[in-house]
Amino acid sequence: MNKLPELIFNESKEGKIGYSFSETEFPDDIISLDDQYRRDGQNLEDFPQLSEVEIVRHYTNLSHLNHSVDSGFYPLGSCTMKYNPKINEAIAGWEEFSAHPYAPLKLVQGNLEIMNTLEKWLKDVTGMAGFTLTPAAGAHGEFTGIKIIRAHLAAKGNPRKIILIPDSAHGTNPASAHFSGYEVKEIPSNENGILDVASLEAHLNEDVAALMMTNPNTLGVFERNIVEISQALHKNGSLLYMDGANMNAFMGIVKPGDLGVDVLHLNLHKTFSTPHGGGGPGSGPVGVTEELLPHLPVPVISKQGDLYHAAYFNKGLGRVKNFYGNFLIMVRALVYLMSIGKENLRKVAEDAVLNANYIRKNLENDLDLPYKFKSLHEVVFSDKGLNVKTLDIAKRLLDFGIHPFTVYFPLIVHGAMMIEPTETESKETLDIFIRTMKTILKEAAEDPAKLQNAPYSTPVRRLDEVLAARQLALKWEKKQE
Ligand SMILES: *Cc1c(COP(=O)(O)O)cnc(C)c1O
Repeated sequence: MNKLPELIFNESKEGKIGYSFSETEFPDDIISLDDQYRRDGQNLEDFPQLSEVEIVRHYTNLSHLNHSVDSGFYPLGSCTMKYNPKINEAIAGWEEFSAHPYAPLKLVQGNLEIMNTLEKWLKDVTGMAGFTLTPAAGAHGEFTGIKIIRAHLAAKGNPRKIILIPDSAHGTNPASAHFSGYEVKEIPSNENGILDVASLEAHLNEDVAALMMTNPNTLGVFERNIVEISQALHKNGSLLYMDGANMNAFMGIVKPGDLGVDVLHLNLHKTFSTPHGGGGPGSGPVGVTEELLPHLPVPVISKQGDLYHAAYFNKGLGRVKNFYGNFLIMVRALVYLMSIGKENLRKVAEDAVLNANYIRKNLENDLDLPYKFKSLHEVVFSDKGLNVKTLDIAKRLLDFGIHPFTVYFPLIVHGAMMIEPTETESKETLDIFIRTMKTILKEAAEDPAKLQNAPYSTPVRRLDEVLAARQLALKWEKKQE
């Protein structure tokens, strides 16, 4: 066993915050590195020796191989690939924000205020009673949210066994529910692509802990029975979880808290314009109703008198993430919200919906549209009637400098093409996309082989995508003589 110091925060009866160090024991294998991973002492003669300019060129050229929102249209459905404003980056780069996570709270009052202010904005946008900002991704938020539901039901005597999930939900939902210790039951959506109350009620019984609903769902359709659905759930002692990653479709218009939602997560790296994936870490805050506040994970940040403080005691889950979560992502999201302004959030959502419907209208005579309800932030076509596959169209789009839409998801649409333009694209860009799609569909009719062999202009052609995902080659290997 190794002993390492750990900082413990505590609060006195009078509300004073203090901290102390304690020695915590860790097993040896947590901190000792296996010899095969050590570089020191090894002969690194063959390690590439490069000059600065060679390295700069290498990475600059690599970066040019990437398609990004900064380099072109990126209509990847469900992912809300909106532009990430540069002012977010500029302000997140202020050195005043970089603080050691163990810094005494008195020295980081500004950072705590930022977290507290962001929480207020999110409460205002969603109508929820409180948020934890700590989860590091949407799926992490789902996991946290379902754990909160479990803690709440357990405190009432029975955590129950089942989470119901409509077939139009996002794919991470069943995984998160399962990971949080629940059995997942899928319920079908109706011919309009939404859940009806009768179908939900047929699945309700005393084992049902919650319904996990993506709204607007992955067909881009608003769940219009949501108020009745929430009432039916509550009557059964069950809760309503809303996957709010698609909040871009209605922020500033509808508040999930007003619809009877008990728990919801947001994706700061979608709706609130912070970078995705390779562009930086994510953030998936979870909002809850008043009743569930005691079960939020720690730390819980609040203001008492003139001072912000972070409380580490709660009936809840303990921590779900080290320290406070991805703080600089929160700074970016708050900059976005403040620069857009409360009164303009509605306009963001309206423009996102307008752009999706512009694409839908202009392509609905060229492609099959399986669900005819009004689209919100995204539109989903199928491959019905085409003599090429969805993948062939997606690959051909690359030759035109456009990132493909999401393919083959949601699963309930055959050969799905899920297109989400977001509000940050101009009419000119949408027109180029629409024209390109029409050109590609014409090529498909006249010369399907042309699409089947695409792409032609990319550094690699068609990959074995399964192999590429499972056997990533990311590290330099010494060449065999
Ligand atoms: C993106 C997304 C998620 C998952 O978010 P991650 O940050 O990728 O984990 C969940 N639900 C919906 C509807 C999404 O679009």
